[in-house]
Amino acid sequence: VLDTAWALRWIRNTADVISAERTQLIELDRAIGDADHGENLDRGFTAVIGRIDAGEASATPASVLKLVAMTLMSTVGGAAGPLYGTAFLRAATALGDAEEVDAALVATLVGAARDGIMARGKAEVGDKTMVDAWTPAADAARTAAQDGATPADVLAAAARAAEAGARGTEPLIARKGRASYLGERSAGHRDPGAVSSALILRAAADAAQ
Ligand code: ADP
Ligand code: MG
Ligand code: MG
Repeated sequence: VLDTAWALRWIRNTADVISAERTQLIELDRAIGDADHGENLDRGFTAVIGRIDAGEASATPASVLKLVAMTLMSTVGGAAGPLYGTAFLRAATALGDAEEVDAALVATLVGAARDGIMARGKAEVGDKTMVDAWTPAADAARTAAQDGATPADVLAAAARAAEAGARGTEPLIARKGRASYLGERSAGHRDPGAVSSALILRAAADAAQ
């Protein structure tokens, strides 16, 4: 079952993978941005783990995600801090006081995160942003949940779709964020935020195995 322990494993997995992929995320952002995406996220998730280790998260999955949201908003900065902060806050709100996250609630969580990112950043699909990972993930999660998949399989479907979405940003021309300043020169590189979004969703799926 996906409970508070799952949420904690998700966030620890995320912190580990962001740390491991820090250099890759920096290099992706160097190509079409300002080379800080890996550093920003590593700082944010390291702060999150510090607060979890200090016992700040409480009894529900939502409390874990809310702590992530608050910490990312105050420590990450740039574009990604408020966007991921909003995503985790909306996800937490969608969970309410549920102690277990079933398949339908997983799909609701991923969809709420995506909607939060779109509301905050006003990017559409195809603008070469993290929306291009979260939207196919939300769609795949909803379809899998409707098809009767287990919560773990809903997350796995979301992660696979996010990974394909992140790869699909490579040929796109950025229309939002710093990369949009490059115009056509932004094509030929994957979007760093789409790549980190896929890592976050893969971490959620791995935590459910
Ligand atoms: P900054 O661009 O301020 O340095 P980061 O490097 O941490 O911030 O994050 C850049 C990522 O943020 C991009 O790769 C993209 O995925 C995402 N992003 C930027 N602007 C938007 C937006 N308006 N909507 C959605 N995502 C965005
Ligand atoms: Mg940057
Ligand atoms: Mg920056």
